[in-house]
Amino acid sequence: MNLMLQIALIKSFAQRVLPASPALLAAIFALQTQNAIAQSVLLSNLKTSEQASPASQGQRSVLTTGKPKMTELSDPFLQPNAASKSPSRASSILQSSDVDETLISPQPNVSTGAHEDLDALLWLRTSAEYDALTRQAFVAATHKLGEAIVDPDWEAVVPSERANGSSKSTSNMRPPCVIVDVDETILDNSVFQVELIQSDSEYQLDAWNQFVQRRSSPAIEGAVEFVQACRASGVVVFFVTNRESTVEAATRENLIAQGLMATSDPDRILSKNEQPNWTSDKSSRRRAVAQKYRVVLLIGDDLNDFLSAKNLTIEQRSQFYQANKKNWGRSWFVIPNPNYGSWEQTTYGHDYQAPLEKKRELKMQTLSGGS
Ligand SMILES: [Mg+2]
Repeated sequence: MNLMLQIALIKSFAQRVLPASPALLAAIFALQTQNAIAQSVLLSNLKTSEQASPASQGQRSVLTTGKPKMTELSDPFLQPNAASKSPSRASSILQSSDVDETLISPQPNVSTGAHEDLDALLWLRTSAEYDALTRQAFVAATHKLGEAIVDPDWEAVVPSERANGSSKSTSNMRPPCVIVDVDETILDNSVFQVELIQSDSEYQLDAWNQFVQRRSSPAIEGAVEFVQACRASGVVVFFVTNRESTVEAATRENLIAQGLMATSDPDRILSKNEQPNWTSDKSSRRRAVAQKYRVVLLIGDDLNDFLSAKNLTIEQRSQFYQANKKNWGRSWFVIPNPNYGSWEQTTYGHDYQAPLEKKRELKMQTLSGGS
């Protein structure tokens, strides 16, 4: 029972039973005074704490000033003698060109209404847990790399995507490689999502391609060290992305700037529509790589980065997960993406053209178990 309620009850009791007791009235007065002083001290402490806490200021201004982060620590596991050279996402975002102006400038017209991506984006851009999870995945993948290289039977792609007539002897002859997705796997495009929220708009391909042309997306935590570990082990990294081939040059420059690719590297980016059969379904591109390389690891943020899983129902996706249980954490590693992906499209029945209100209605039905 709180203090105010206790005082009210005592007061009520006193008025009804002991209206003339001077000692009780004095006690009530003392309690009220004590409560007022306590409240005043609490308020004063709260204000002092808010003024002195840059973290709380950063949390409140995250949508306009970039992600608040602690100073990056070195990773004794991956680089025992050197601090990580990859810039933090926050500093990369703040250092990028026209993106920074948008982010740093006051946003008087920012929508203050509800947006379905708000919490997911806040988690992605502010939580230490997100950075810990992505690093966790890349460190675990690095651990498996050594094991995978020396095992000639170790192949990450599903049997239907493997090289024709693949056998132990032919596997041995193909050099090892890993396939990584780009967006929200090794590059953080959350600034694009922030701008969607600020303008209360939805994804549009033209706007997305313009964003890609900025070449300003920072590397996701842990990705640079993983790619460096692959290079040090002689394992080739292929980037299989559903970015359009028309923006591949910008993608390449962004990857080089973030230390995810070397300037001297040959073209290892396999973009959507780069070849006639390279559709958004990545299986044809994985198959093309697997003809010449033994794919030992797959890393992505979407089920489709691991196998062909387009337009599935929630139940079918779950079955795909179950059927490939042995691969997760062994040759398949997932980077969390709570913002977008085929998982979300499934929740509204893949009806991409539906108005936002209709999608919300379908999502609510999915949430409540309806269909
Ligand atoms: Mg992706």
